[in-house]
Amino acid sequence: MIIIQQGELVLTDRILTGDLLIDGDKIVAIDEHVPVPEGAKVIDAKGCYVFPGFIDPHTHFQMTNALASTADDFDSGTKAAILGGTTSIINFASPEEGSLCKGLEVHKERAAGHCSCDYKFHMELVEMNEEVSHEIPKVVEAGVSSFKVYLAYGFRLTDREIYDAIEAIKPTGALVGAHCENGDLIDAFVADKRKRGELDVDNHPLTRPAMIESEAIKRFSTIGAALEYPVHIVHVSSKEGVDEVLRERALGHQVTCETCPQYLVLDESRYKLPDFEGVKYVMSPPLRTIQDQMALKDALVNGVFQTIGSDHCSFTFNDQKLKSRYDFTRIPGGIPGAEERGIIAYDVLVNQCNMSAVDFMKLVSENPAKLYGMYPKKGTLAVGSDGDITIVDKHIEHVLSKESAHTKADYIPYEGISVTGKVRDVILRGHHVVQDGSLIE
Ligand code: MN
Ligand code: MN
Repeated sequence: MIIIQQGELVLTDRILTGDLLIDGDKIVAIDEHVPVPEGAKVIDAKGCYVFPGFIDPHTHFQMTNALASTADDFDSGTKAAILGGTTSIINFASPEEGSLCKGLEVHKERAAGHCSCDYKFHMELVEMNEEVSHEIPKVVEAGVSSFKVYLAYGFRLTDREIYDAIEAIKPTGALVGAHCENGDLIDAFVADKRKRGELDVDNHPLTRPAMIESEAIKRFSTIGAALEYPVHIVHVSSKEGVDEVLRERALGHQVTCETCPQYLVLDESRYKLPDFEGVKYVMSPPLRTIQDQMALKDALVNGVFQTIGSDHCSFTFNDQKLKSRYDFTRIPGGIPGAEERGIIAYDVLVNQCNMSAVDFMKLVSENPAKLYGMYPKKGTLAVGSDGDITIVDKHIEHVLSKESAHTKADYIPYEGISVTGKVRDVILRGHHVVQDGSLIE
């Protein structure tokens, strides 16, 4: 048994300064004062927020694409996640030899016995045919509650295929998310850059302007609306993207969306850093302008977004990214961030934007639990819910650095950023796994 004493418990509708008792793997009592049972481990949480464990709905651990394999596998990725206060991740699983069921099995095998936090999978749909349609309900039966399609990259689906995908998913009730960028236009812009020999890394964002994000959001939302089915937009990065989501909602279309910490605290000037350092920030969508950052923060404060994902997809600077420094189209895209996601979002939203701890909690815990079928087992401090707890000391100021980070990549994109608030303790299903910022179990 573990009792957390006199923390500021972030409940679904208010903050309660009080005690929380966990017995076995469940929360069994929440009150102003809970008597300490004999033999219970006592954690003093004075001056700390006590959150339901954070949920990261967007990780790519142990992934291989056409260019490279990620630096982080499930071991290092979930270690980084739990040290950052994340008790559940939802990782992307891809089909194997055209089969969703086989893909899910392979990803489950890779993760089994290697995870420091709880996990589940989104299933990627990279082609549509009868076999895939047939397998969609089967993987839902096996625990998948969300699918993802791409409107960019070589494995993007056509509008017709996305229509077919949503039609097949609709009877299952699963969520359909999309990477929204117009892949055809990116190909055209990239071909143009190649023809001109403009392949330095600062060309990367120019081939993926915000307008191709908003166009894809519009198109994907339209397909969902045609089938009267809700859609979810991952990693919205720009003001134009936010505006498009709002326009869709004004039309009565059901659209939920996610953004990521990198779009809140990093901007496009990174691509112009000397010594090829810009390659560290190659990701898609790319980093945007300060105006975009401000629009995203406003949108977060105004409740436009439902979730914040890390989009953790780590590659090393020296071995993987730098190798392709003379050709931005060959640089593996993605950054580490599962460890920093929670505390950056906390610092930006609660400290800088005056968001309430309750509203912040919904973005990093309650909403993803609800969207991905984990609620109320996860995502809330309530009697009967899993004992997944993240304790944040509000007063500790610290500087984010690779030196103290746990990704296997050789850098973090947030190097040198100062934040106030530190993940001090984490409890996973009743196990005290992080103590004073260190992994103890
Ligand atoms: Mn993506
Ligand atoms: Mn992603």
